[in-house]
Amino acid sequence: GAIVAIVGRPNVGKSTLFNRLIQRREAIVDSVSGVTRDRHYGKSDWNGKEFSVIDTGGYVVGSDDVFEKEIDKQVELAIDESDAIIFMVDVESGITGMDEEVAKLLYKVEKPVFLAVNKVDNAKREADAVEFYALGLGEYYNLSSINGSGTGELLDALVEVLPEGAEEETELPRFAVVGRPNAGKSSFINALIGEERNIVTDVAGTTRDSIDTKYNRFGFEFNLVDTAGIRKKSKVREDLEFYSVMRSVRAIEHSDVCILLFDATRGFDGQVQNIFWLAERNHKGVVILVNKWDLVDKDTHTVKKYTQLIKEAIAPFTDVPIIFGSALTKQRLLKVLETAVEVYQNRTKKIKTSELNNVLLPIVENNTPPAYKGKYVKIKFITQLPTHHPQFAFFCNLPQYVKDPYKRFLENQLREHFDFTGVPIDVFMRKK
Ligand code: GDP
Repeated sequence: GAIVAIVGRPNVGKSTLFNRLIQRREAIVDSVSGVTRDRHYGKSDWNGKEFSVIDTGGYVVGSDDVFEKEIDKQVELAIDESDAIIFMVDVESGITGMDEEVAKLLYKVEKPVFLAVNKVDNAKREADAVEFYALGLGEYYNLSSINGSGTGELLDALVEVLPEGAEEETELPRFAVVGRPNAGKSSFINALIGEERNIVTDVAGTTRDSIDTKYNRFGFEFNLVDTAGIRKKSKVREDLEFYSVMRSVRAIEHSDVCILLFDATRGFDGQVQNIFWLAERNHKGVVILVNKWDLVDKDTHTVKKYTQLIKEAIAPFTDVPIIFGSALTKQRLLKVLETAVEVYQNRTKKIKTSELNNVLLPIVENNTPPAYKGKYVKIKFITQLPTHHPQFAFFCNLPQYVKDPYKRFLENQLREHFDFTGVPIDVFMRKK
């Protein structure tokens, strides 16, 4: 799917627009305690086109000097990682120096930029908004975060330019290696492809045409979705973290299966959970590698203990392979690849309708959904939908009466009888 970034100085209303775009969906909030910013990531769709939205936040306390550097950095990130940019300004304050700075950075961008003038709530302000032509970015869109007007026009134009969300049909699995900074991603990739790569780059705003590279290693053929090229020179740790989240978003969107690494000596913390969540919400396959296993003092219970902690963190989607290994000593890296290929196969497989019904109908007949308001739900027919990732439709008389716990039961039955390890499944109830 495509990625849209919202940039602009603080308090112009970026988060209001963000919240409107993602509606009731959950957002990832990446807040670094004790410092300055919240970053938000969410999914949105308009006219049937799905895309991700990143609100780059931008609340920073400190001198104006620091401030401007921060804004530069945000815009740079947006340029690197998004497919389109919404640049938000505020009609109340008019053009500020900082707006001009951002505009200057955006001149160089070869991606679509949408100038959104916020707080246009009345005719006078509509007239005032004309001044924003002076930013040199061409047409603009008037928005009002108070009454919600203008968002539709902006979105119509936006989705028009977004690349098609449909996954390209490649024969080869696309793997993304994701995780927090220092989890061992580069080490893993180097071990895998057997060549050192230059992972430090200072070039700002460089865009890459392709992020997939084809590999043939150890008898496996796959595309590695590139997360290398991460700028490791960032002075501030939180920037590195955010940069890495942006990279993860990008890589995950382009992948079929995510190999999620985390540092066993540091644990499966909230940031790792965020990345897992990203993969799950994007319907990608997942393999978890508990990396740096060589550093852990082990007894007979250690694997069990780790497994349990991880499963608690990723519940309810716990049907995920967990591998204990080391990028440094190359322990179990082949196992990781092998498993990623299996997960890929699980994600692409199609179960015959006859088989689904033969196996599952007797089970649902013996385990009917609870009656609701005195009415009984009868499931009559099950089919897998022709989508890129596993989705199943259960046709019945009263789909609206089937609640989440029963859907989870159905999902578990699917997992038990047809191997979907590592793959998120959607269960829909449909009217027969
Ligand atoms: P990245 O930021 O996720 O790409 O992490 P790197 O691959 O740069 O690794 C961060 C640090 O952890 C480096 O010093 C690596 O040598 C070290 N490292 C990575 N994997 C392992 C491992 O499996 N075991 C040990 N002991 N160290 C590791």
